Amino acid sequence: MLGAPGAGKGTQGSRLASRAGIAHISTGDLFRDAVKIESPAGQRAEAYLKTGQLVPDQVVLQLVEEYLADLEGSDICLDGFPRTYQQAVALDKVLSRFGLSIAVVLHLYVEDNIALERLVDRGRADDTIQTARYRMDVYHATTEPLIKYYNEIGLLSQIDGSGDPDDVESRVWDVVKMALN
Ligand code: AMP
Repeated sequence: MLGAPGAGKGTQGSRLASRAGIAHISTGDLFRDAVKIESPAGQRAEAYLKTGQLVPDQVVLQLVEEYLADLEGSDICLDGFPRTYQQAVALDKVLSRFGLSIAVVLHLYVEDNIALERLVDRGRADDTIQTARYRMDVYHATTEPLIKYYNEIGLLSQIDGSGDPDDVESRVWDVVKMALN
């Protein structure tokens, strides 16, 4: 699931996962938990989360791989990962190792001003207006190019992420249902 900060990836990712009966991996959640328990990954990631920068690829990949190994090849909804081209390339390799492949890439899109409003209303530690704007810039510069990449290989579906979360959930489900059939 791709989308700007505030596009609704977390909400829709967890709704989709429970509806489809699959696991939901949010790398943001994994890092926030790791920071809380002060694990080695958490200690490496903390400053990046605070300032809204991307955690270095190697740290992210290690965490994701550990998680995928635990899931032993069951279906998953990835939310907030991959976020860089290197992560996307690494993901393909890791998935094939577990006998998995990408069924669909959902791009949840909303206008920047709506996304920023949602972030500031949510009020997470990294949701101050400055950090939120910075994360939006990082998204446009580094993660948005993945939309083109996945479109070119025929995996992308565009989902309007604005409006009522129940309506967004239906749009997501319509696309995923088709992709899984
Ligand atoms: P999120 O909850 O998806 O908004 O992520 C919160 C923060 O976690 C981001 O601002 C990054 O610092 C870090 N993060 C989450 N996922 C990734 C990723 N795939 N690559 C690099 N950093 C990430």
